[in-house]
Amino acid sequence: MRNVNKIFSNGTLALKDMSLDVFRGEFISLLGPSGCGKSTALRIIAGLGGASSGQIDWPSSKINSRGLPEGDIGFVFQEPTLMPWQTVFGNVYLPLRLKGVSKAAARPQIMETLASVGLADFEKSYPRELSGGMKMRVSIARALVTKPTLLLMDEPFAALDEITRQKLNDDVLRLWKQSGVTVIFVTHSVFESAYLSNRIVVMKARPGQVYADVPLHTSAERNADYRTSEEYRATTHQVSRALQEAIHIGGGDH
Ligand code: ADP
Repeated sequence: MRNVNKIFSNGTLALKDMSLDVFRGEFISLLGPSGCGKSTALRIIAGLGGASSGQIDWPSSKINSRGLPEGDIGFVFQEPTLMPWQTVFGNVYLPLRLKGVSKAAARPQIMETLASVGLADFEKSYPRELSGGMKMRVSIARALVTKPTLLLMDEPFAALDEITRQKLNDDVLRLWKQSGVTVIFVTHSVFESAYLSNRIVVMKARPGQVYADVPLHTSAERNADYRTSEEYRATTHQVSRALQEAIHIGGGDH
């Protein structure tokens, strides 16, 4: 992102001069108080909302008519946003269907992706039969089925209980390592960002901007032991401080 500004039609200046370089294979958390522009930034990267000015540069050579890399982005929203009248299989098929891939041709890829999120046995289930965590897994499978190079996640686990959230954190880390996908993960949890990321971008509000860019130089395996390690404690301390400063300078919605 190069000097991206976003002014909504009601005059709200959501992002001002936001610049961010994202490198292939990174797991970046965008962390900041509510209302600092995290979702806005993510939606602009995804092409779901245009920037008022500034630039989004892509390394990909295959750019579509909307200036986005062809089929290269998966998006996971805060809500699973599944189609209730479709089975798990049907929901995960959607992005491939939109690309014109037949159901038969898509089947191996869908089943492989469902297995990777632990839902191999649930292809025929409907969303109403699934727990909140399972619905979110379907949503992640739908985002990954096209094998995107960039996965954007907008507070995907905020509505889940702590245990389910920790399990899904571990699953996302495993999928990230296996697939090599680049992840930008929006959260307002210091603990979640420190557990998941190898880089934490702290944003400030009014106007939304990058306040601090914190690389995490750790090779430690992220697991239950890591959650109680001195390294994790030190990281959360450092990031909390940066977040407090960002809130002090820019405020937020609450
Ligand atoms: P975050 O994801 O960090 O909570 P958002 O990106 O949702 O923040 O919002 C950034 C700012 O832009 C907030 O002040 C919010 O109220 C405002 N905003 C977001 N979407 C719109 C919209 N469609 N119209 C007007 N203002 C908006």
